[in-house]
Amino acid sequence: PSRFAATPRGPEDAILGITLAYNADPNPNKVNLGVGAYRDDAGLPVVLEAVRQAEHRILQRSLDMEYLPVAGSHTFLQRAIWLAYGDDVMQRMNGRFAGLQTLSGTGACRMAGELISRFLDIPHRTGKPLILLPDPSWLNHRPIFTDAGCKVASYSYYNPLTKSLDIDACLHSLENAPNASVVLLHACAHNPTGVDPNMDQWAAISNVMLEKSHLPLFDMAYQGFTSGDMDVDAASVRLFAEDGHKIVLAQSFSKNFGLYGQRVGCLSVMTDSEQETQAINSQLKIIARPMYSNPPIAGVRLVEEVLNCDDLQQLWRSEMKSMAHRIISMRSRLRQHLIELGNKHNWDHIVNQHGMFCFSGLSKEQVDTLRERFSVYLTANGRISMAGVTSDNVDYLADAIHHVTS
Ligand code: PLP
Repeated sequence: PSRFAATPRGPEDAILGITLAYNADPNPNKVNLGVGAYRDDAGLPVVLEAVRQAEHRILQRSLDMEYLPVAGSHTFLQRAIWLAYGDDVMQRMNGRFAGLQTLSGTGACRMAGELISRFLDIPHRTGKPLILLPDPSWLNHRPIFTDAGCKVASYSYYNPLTKSLDIDACLHSLENAPNASVVLLHACAHNPTGVDPNMDQWAAISNVMLEKSHLPLFDMAYQGFTSGDMDVDAASVRLFAEDGHKIVLAQSFSKNFGLYGQRVGCLSVMTDSEQETQAINSQLKIIARPMYSNPPIAGVRLVEEVLNCDDLQQLWRSEMKSMAHRIISMRSRLRQHLIELGNKHNWDHIVNQHGMFCFSGLSKEQVDTLRERFSVYLTANGRISMAGVTSDNVDYLADAIHHVTS
């Protein structure tokens, strides 16, 4: 018999399973609102024109395909960190960033967890370091940090009654967490709720975290998707930098460059000295080497090319804006249509929430009915990927939501 015959079958990933069910559905009106990937107004995947042009320019150079260093492309790292922090913070930090190119945002979070579980300085360390996730958070966060050897708990974040941030409960739970915990923050476009703190609320969170010596671990998977502007969307991270936090930052280029399958990401850690930078860099390489040796080269070249060429960078920023604005316009059309249908519920949260997702407030039963009667697919927690809403299906979606909520 096979030596693996006793392997128990594990559950399907909750989000990826939705696409499988959607693909098998013969209904021509079916709508996939499960997947967190941008779609154009025809519902199709998008390769950005800036990325296409970068690809063309790179191809013409006939580059080799040698291994990257274990830590990836140094140029990419510098550009990625700059994109998040901007000129002012870069100047003030004067190069005091450790980091490496990662297997996208997932890999950046995982590497952060591995670094934290091995080396985070915790007063009176008795066990695994504690990472606090917002409640709720991206479903993959818990397994990522647990597998990396951290202990995971949550802090209050979302209020289902108001469908917005419960800032008092949030501050309260951060105050009551053990000192010097790690706090995971979604830099913008919170997944799954679409609820971000405003700047006053970010300032309050920053203050509590300074008082408590909590370490901010920012996950920035959607820079650009809240406002359309890369710098506006980085305001939370930059505020924390101004306030003197030493930030750990996980960046993904899946969504804002449309490079999902290329796996382009970056983990960076602010340090106090060149010596600390070198020590952390040495350990990040020691962690990465036995896992995958070195990161992939194709996607990172595209990002470098776009960020290194002014014309491509400008084009990319304008395309990023269009993606964000298409989603914003679908939010208002969806809400407007529900109002026109005479739906008795308040749908303001559809337009008040930001980024790729709308936390609709629909119950599990309503989600089931949407799928069974209308072939509209979303996650059981009522999360709608607004990227899947188009001019052609927005009215159908509003009708379906109206039906299950009336
Ligand atoms: N973090 C959050 C909050 C996400 O929603 C995602 C993707 O859905 C990621 C990180 C990482 O994605 P990727 O590994 O594709 O960059």
